[in-house]
Amino acid sequence: MVATTRIPGTDLQPTRIGLGTWAIGGWMWGGTDEGQSVRTVQSAVDRGISLVDTAPVYGMGTSERFVGEALRERRRREQVVLATKCGLNWSGTQPYRDARPERIRQEIDDSLQRLQTDVIDIEQVHWPDPNVPVEETAGALKDALQAGKIRAIGVSNFSPEQLDRFRKEAPLSVVQPPYNLFERGIENDVLPYVREQGLTTLTYGALCRGLLSGKMTADQTFEGDDLRNADPKFQAARFPQYVEAVNKLDAFAQERFGKRAIHLALAWVLAQPGVGVALWGARRPDQLDALADVDDITLTQDDLSEIDRIVADTVTDPVGPEFMAPPARDEKAA
Ligand code: NAP
Repeated sequence: MVATTRIPGTDLQPTRIGLGTWAIGGWMWGGTDEGQSVRTVQSAVDRGISLVDTAPVYGMGTSERFVGEALRERRRREQVVLATKCGLNWSGTQPYRDARPERIRQEIDDSLQRLQTDVIDIEQVHWPDPNVPVEETAGALKDALQAGKIRAIGVSNFSPEQLDRFRKEAPLSVVQPPYNLFERGIENDVLPYVREQGLTTLTYGALCRGLLSGKMTADQTFEGDDLRNADPKFQAARFPQYVEAVNKLDAFAQERFGKRAIHLALAWVLAQPGVGVALWGARRPDQLDALADVDDITLTQDDLSEIDRIVADTVTDPVGPEFMAPPARDEKAA
């Protein structure tokens, strides 16, 4: 079974692999299916995954509702660390940053209802809001902590400078940045910071939006509003490079460990100093089958160097996950 990690300042001790539930919200993932989504969450918990990450904006409430439904039966809620977010608002399906204290208070109450729970284990600010002093947002979360509505505070997509400011106002336990074999920007700033400060990371996108599952081919297409239609990694010149890199990583994983690219991608994230929990997004139960074969891969320094070489030699025009950043309130389209 996957190892666990302790969230500082709390009794929470989740598994080092957590279930990500953005895709089951449907929005930006080409739609969803309720029964399949509920079964996916239940299957994750039944396989021993004890952290579930969601957010109000994932399907404008849909993901949280499905998670709440899934955890209601067979006391699954008691078996998981339930993490959600706040600080985004939306107009139709257009999200925008809104971390005003009144919005935070409203979102926490709405999330408690949709998740059918009395308390949220980890409440995270989804994106920093340039229009609201970070101290005001932090104050609203501190109040929720003192009121017993949440058990721990986290923030996502924050820089070390923003983390410093936030922590002057409220106790921070969790940081949620993007991180995977192809998206390693946080190695220069956030990872050294959390290691030094003893914070726990829930890193997101372990499979780089499915790319590192090893199941994609260069002629793959995506349906409807799927974010991969706008993701620069999945366009013309770059996509074949990324697919080729995954194929080479897959060959390396088979030869070296008798495993596949998906196992290697998850084990690689977990092996990086400063990573607490790797979030793995899934929308069907069978997508979690690889879980059983992740934790017996131990990567040596030589393995890590070989992986770096494969990626650097194959992806000659890398690009990060910045395209995902939502606009501020005063930048959104009318
Ligand atoms: P991910 O884990 O890199 O990729 C998830 C997608 O990969 C799935 O939806 C599925 O998509 C595909 N996949 C998963 N397992 C697979 C398998 N065994 N075989 C083939 N395909 C497979 O990306 P993510 O969902 O973007 O990130 C994980 C979680 O992190 C999210 O769900 C969310 O909780 C969190 N997150 C947070 C932020 C933030 O700003 N804080 C941003 C992004 C994500 P298909 O079936 O459609 O191919």
